[in-house]
Amino acid sequence: MDELLRRSEKLTTVGQLAAGVAHEIRNPLTTLRGFLQLQQQTRQLNVSHVGLMLSELDRINLIVGEFLILAKPQATKFVTKDMRNILRDVIALMNSEAHLHNIEFMSLFTEEDCLVSCEENQLKQVFINLLKNAIEAMPTGGPIHIQITNKKRTVSIKITDEGEGIPEEMISKIGDPFFTGKESGTGLGIMVSQRIILNHKGNLDFQSQEKVGTTVHVSLPALKQSSRDGILEASTNEGS
Ligand code: ADP
Ligand code: MG
Repeated sequence: MDELLRRSEKLTTVGQLAAGVAHEIRNPLTTLRGFLQLQQQTRQLNVSHVGLMLSELDRINLIVGEFLILAKPQATKFVTKDMRNILRDVIALMNSEAHLHNIEFMSLFTEEDCLVSCEENQLKQVFINLLKNAIEAMPTGGPIHIQITNKKRTVSIKITDEGEGIPEEMISKIGDPFFTGKESGTGLGIMVSQRIILNHKGNLDFQSQEKVGTTVHVSLPALKQSSRDGILEASTNEGS
């Protein structure tokens, strides 16, 4: 019974998501079709229309790309990694974009191991999403603090920006598919990230104050050092 319930809930979510994706992709497709039709009728290539068509195509690509992350093969391989190394990689990857926006990453890492069982690329995707949001929240630049600790069998990562913050009535909507406060946002980054973190038996939540900034807190179960060498296959993880 429990299993049935769980499955039907899953189906509803998938159905809702599919409807959302179809809707979000149909708009740019309609625009594209209109422009193509116009050019067919006039037998002329209008350069500014081509520019608009390209940006509509980019948007479709962005939406599909974010969904592909969720559509990974079922048997995901979980391996033991030190979360500090994953964060270092992500920071290195995002550094040039940060500099471009006058942003400085300030990291404070614990000296202790922060071993977690994970799908490395998925976790990287999560932190890329979170850092991107933090950067986008500070249009004039500033510091982003990245802190990692390992206490009471929990690896905790906090990302704090000094951006515009999130109005209280909006916080509960963050992570709903397609919920965005940005003109050209997809509203998919947090939803995808939350799912990945749940798949890792962790938690992701927001604390924010308008005009002061936002802290995103990700926590993951810590592994003991002794399990470091084994490759751990998470059997309970059939992606939900
Ligand atoms: P997108 O970035 O495409 O809008 P996300 O799912 O990544 O979609 O984020 C959803 C919304 O949550 C954002 O549009 C923004 O309004 C809000 N948000 C997320 N992170 C932050 C942050 N660090 N500061 C302020 N607002 C944020
Ligand atoms: Mg985002």
